[in-house]
Amino acid sequence: MRHASGHCDGVGNCASLSTMKLTCLRPKLLQAKPRPASGWRADAERGDRHQRGYGYAWEKLRIEILRRDCGLCQCPDCQGGRLRVTQANEVHHIVGKAEGQLRGWTAAEIDHPSNLQAINRDCHTKLTSKQAHHAT
Ligand SMILES: [Zn+2]
Repeated sequence: MRHASGHCDGVGNCASLSTMKLTCLRPKLLQAKPRPASGWRADAERGDRHQRGYGYAWEKLRIEILRRDCGLCQCPDCQGGRLRVTQANEVHHIVGKAEGQLRGWTAAEIDHPSNLQAINRDCHTKLTSKQAHHAT
């Protein structure tokens, strides 16, 4: 009945509403916080480490693959110098990581030399963008 200037018509209503909010929110926060926070952070760190690089072991493997393939790009357009002589400076997963995981491969199988080939950076970009198109 009182359409006064204020924001708050029924004082009692506001008070009960805010206490209701508090009592409702608090248990939810207590329940929700610990699990996602810890789980999420661990996942993020793991993902980060994966994305950022593979560390020393990978570096060693990379050099080994480049040496094995004579430092020549092995992509379908170059074929290790048969079609085109292109210097390789990266290592390519023949079966990509995501694809390998889909097939149930272990990390060791995905990073196995038989699944790796030396590749030129530009060819690599071309090839992975082709693969991405293929996958979707
Ligand atoms: Zn190439």
